[in-house]
Amino acid sequence: MTSGSFKMLNSSRQRLFPAARRATVQTSVTSTSLRLFSVSAHRRADFTHAVIGGGVVGLAVARALAERAASVAPSSSSSSVLLLERHNTVGTETSARNSEVIHAGLYYGPDSLKTQLCIRGRQLLYGFCEEYGVAHRRTGKWIVAQTPGQREALEKIYAFGQNYHDRDAIPLQWVDTDEAKQREPAVRAEAGVLESLATGIIDSHGLMQTLLGLFEQAGGVLAPGSPVTKITPLGDSGTGSGGWQLCVKPTDADADVEETVVTAETIVNAAGLGAAAIHNMITQGHDSSHLERQEPMQLYYAKGNYFSYAHSQPRVSTLVYPAPEPGLAGLGTHLTLDLAGRIRFGPDVEWVTDPTDLAVNADQLPQAIEAIKTYLPGVDPTALQPDYAGMRPKLVKAGQGAADFVVRNEPGYQGWVNLLGIESPGLTSSLAIGEMVEKLVYEI
Ligand SMILES: Cc1cc2nc3c(=O)[nH]c(=O)nc-3n(C[C@H](O)[C@H](O)[C@H](O)COP(=O)(O)OP(=O)(O)OC[C@H]3O[C@@H](n4cnc5c(N)ncnc54)[C@H](O)[C@@H]3O)c2cc1C
Repeated sequence: MTSGSFKMLNSSRQRLFPAARRATVQTSVTSTSLRLFSVSAHRRADFTHAVIGGGVVGLAVARALAERAASVAPSSSSSSVLLLERHNTVGTETSARNSEVIHAGLYYGPDSLKTQLCIRGRQLLYGFCEEYGVAHRRTGKWIVAQTPGQREALEKIYAFGQNYHDRDAIPLQWVDTDEAKQREPAVRAEAGVLESLATGIIDSHGLMQTLLGLFEQAGGVLAPGSPVTKITPLGDSGTGSGGWQLCVKPTDADADVEETVVTAETIVNAAGLGAAAIHNMITQGHDSSHLERQEPMQLYYAKGNYFSYAHSQPRVSTLVYPAPEPGLAGLGTHLTLDLAGRIRFGPDVEWVTDPTDLAVNADQLPQAIEAIKTYLPGVDPTALQPDYAGMRPKLVKAGQGAADFVVRNEPGYQGWVNLLGIESPGLTSSLAIGEMVEKLVYEI
């Protein structure tokens, strides 16, 4: 994906799902239609589920819940799912600013949710792409080592794959020197190449369009331009036992709409970079004296800068990653390909304080060139240009290691599924997160 490919999902959605699009336009929570929603009795919430955040994860969750709700109560008009997105289009934040790699799940340890959801998500994603015609390719990926220390890192990854309880789930193989030279003559790998066969690339926008279409076909309601500004747990104990009230302040400048209120029996916080703000609206914003006082939750932000490559040489046909470095908040400046075969490099790691600071930092370019030259010595530095940047919502600060995904029924509350720190491999994991949230909500 390049910056030029931040497509308007709505326009292509019209082609794919014309009926669904009409439904959205009529029910968007941006206009007078919202005035029809009442702050109803707790037992009769406006919606069964409200999902906050229309990135790839919110879309996958909303689709799973909408299909589930439709199967539980196919004829009930009250059983429905509302997807609230602050921007006028879904999928314009982190889900539109990543490497679009379908990860194998090599880096996160045997017991982490990241490993579990990445592997399950990848398996679901390949099946989903086949079924719905979402563009993707199993490119494979090389992890390359230049030093004995890096070779050791590759051996650890290989052993992890071999020892994983389902060994077939993480197919890995060593590529010997002759074969490596023949297959990718431009790639330097002094101390070894480990190949991940399950890795691929995907059109993330195509995935989101399709999820949105399925969500709407199942009766889900998309509310674009609807930032959630306040959330109140309902019920005597303030735990959400009586449902949830959400305030939305529509961003549509033309509409004479004040803050609007909607209720739901359950809520899912899938707000990505905004997830801590949503969390704090609940834990800090009402009388929670029955609960232990919580500190406000804080996210930390690690920007990843990407650089496009305009030269046709050297040619590379697989993804190339350096050996992982302990303590680095990313996977190292790697080489990925888009579906048209174009090379791009990144993302690096730049800690910032402002999550909206998405300008590519060209000062990072010399550092990126050094990193790239280690595995692609023939790279032409003059053909590298700042491209786009994405923002990782981190649960821990620089230097504090890696945190796992948080996907849980929030303790002390009823009907609140909280998703925090959904950084990479969140795109790969999205369908598995949808599945997991469905299980949490329906207690299966
Ligand atoms: C540099 C980089 C590279 C990556 N590469 C990969 C990769 O190759 N493969 C992979 O699997 N993963 C990758 N990831 C991770 C992946 O992109 C994310 O995990 C995934 O996109 C997160 O999706 P999301 O829906 O949780 O978040 P988002 O896409 O950020 O969506 C959250 C949505 O919530 C909305 N929102 C926020 N606050 C509110 C509010 N108050 N009211 C209403 N709406 C709100 C936002 O507008 C946004 O649309 C990468 C991430 C980064 C940063």
